[in-house]
Amino acid sequence: MGSKCQSCGMPLSSDPQGGGSEADGGRSSKYCSLCYENGSFRHPGVSVEEFQAHCVDAMAAKGFPRFIPWLFTRGIPKLERWKT
Ligand SMILES: [Zn+2]
Repeated sequence: MGSKCQSCGMPLSSDPQGGGSEADGGRSSKYCSLCYENGSFRHPGVSVEEFQAHCVDAMAAKGFPRFIPWLFTRGIPKLERWKT
């Protein structure tokens, strides 16, 4: 089992970029390119509820039936980004 993004839960193997980018241009092994870019989060300061709603909307916009993003986002609060 590969690692998954610790912000949204997407498997990093499914990320076309292979992971987010660090400020020094390296690849993040923790966060995907949709969440993390140039060493910072692309949605800074969001609450986990706002982020879950964002993910549901983004997946629904891609044509997923709504129960799929709902299942997918249920695990988000357990990920490392949201633990503090
Ligand atoms: Zn992510």
